[in-house]
Amino acid sequence: RGLAIGIDIGGTKVAAGLVDGDGRVLAEARRSTPGHDPREVESVIVDLVAELSANHHVWSVGIGAAGWMDLAGSTVLFSPHLAWRNEPLRENLERLLRRRVYVVNDADGAAWAEWRFGSGLGQSRLVCITLGTGIGGAMIMDGRLERGRFGVAGEFGHQIIMPGGQRCECGNRGCWEQYASGNALGREARELAGANSPVAQELLRAVDGDISAITGAVVTKMALDGDQASVELLDEVGQWLGLGLANLAAALDPGMFVVGGGLSAAGDLLLEPARRSFARNLTGRGFRPAARLELAALGPAAGMIGAADLSRIAARR
Ligand code: BGC
Ligand code: ZN
Repeated sequence: RGLAIGIDIGGTKVAAGLVDGDGRVLAEARRSTPGHDPREVESVIVDLVAELSANHHVWSVGIGAAGWMDLAGSTVLFSPHLAWRNEPLRENLERLLRRRVYVVNDADGAAWAEWRFGSGLGQSRLVCITLGTGIGGAMIMDGRLERGRFGVAGEFGHQIIMPGGQRCECGNRGCWEQYASGNALGREARELAGANSPVAQELLRAVDGDISAITGAVVTKMALDGDQASVELLDEVGQWLGLGLANLAAALDPGMFVVGGGLSAAGDLLLEPARRSFARNLTGRGFRPAARLELAALGPAAGMIGAADLSRIAARR
C-alpha cells in the first residue's frame, strides 16, 4: 500500500511522480500544460497516471491543481492561469480513471510535503509560498491545512501590493504575483532587454536575440552563472517577495515561511534580498520575534509529493 501518484498541475507544466510513504519520488513524468481546454488537461493526467502505474501497484492518486478548490475538494471554482471555471475536476477524473482521486490546491500540496518531509518539518505554524507562473500560498496550523471558510484561503498571490499596478490574470491590478513570481521575473527581464540596454547583452545572447524566449527560468540560470543583470533582476523580485512576506507576518504570525516553486531554484540570490526586505518591512521589527525564511527542501517536487501523501492519507480513511 506504499506507492501513490502525485500530479502537480501548474500554469506551465504538469509534473507527475510515483511517491513512496516517506515522500521519496521513485519515478517522474511531465508534460507541458495544454492551453485552454480542461478536457486536454484531463487527458494529460490520464496519460501520466497510465505511464506511472504501468509497472507498479498504485494505492492512491492525488492532484495538486493551480486553482481555487472548494472545501469539498471536488470543484475548481476558478483559476487565473488555467481554463477551470466551476470545473468538477474530481468527478471528471474519477470517471476517466475509474478510481478515487484526491484533489487539492497545488500550493496546499507543496506546504503539506514541506511540513511532513521538508524544511517545515513539524512547525506549528507554517506558511508556504510557491513561486512559479503565479504565487501559490498555503498554511499549516497545528498539523492541519488551514483552508478557510470556503476552501480558498492562502491566495496570497492576489493580495494587492501596488494599487493600479500590473494587470493580473485574476482580473485585478497590482497583485503580488505580478511582482514576485517567475512570470514577473521573465516580464521584467524582457522589458530590460527590449529597452536595448547594454546591461542585457548577455541575456540576449543566451536566447539568440529572441526577446520573447526570455523566461524566469532563463534569468535564473543566467543569474546562477553570474550574469550581473540577471542577479539584479532576481534581487528586485526578492525584495518584492520580502515585502509581501512581511505583510503576511503581520496577519498570520507564522514561525517559518518556506519558499518553493520553480523560482526557488535561484536559492540565496532570491532569498537573501527577500530576507533583507522582510526584516526592513516587518512591522514591530526589533520588538518581536521574526519568522524564518527558508527554501523548500523538496524543491519543485514538493507539490507532487504533498498531493500524493494527502491522497494516501485520504484513502486510508
Ligand atoms: C492561483 C493559485 C495557485 C498559484 C500557484 C495563483 O495565481 O490563484 O490558486 O496556487 O497561482 O499556481
Ligand atoms: Zn491577481
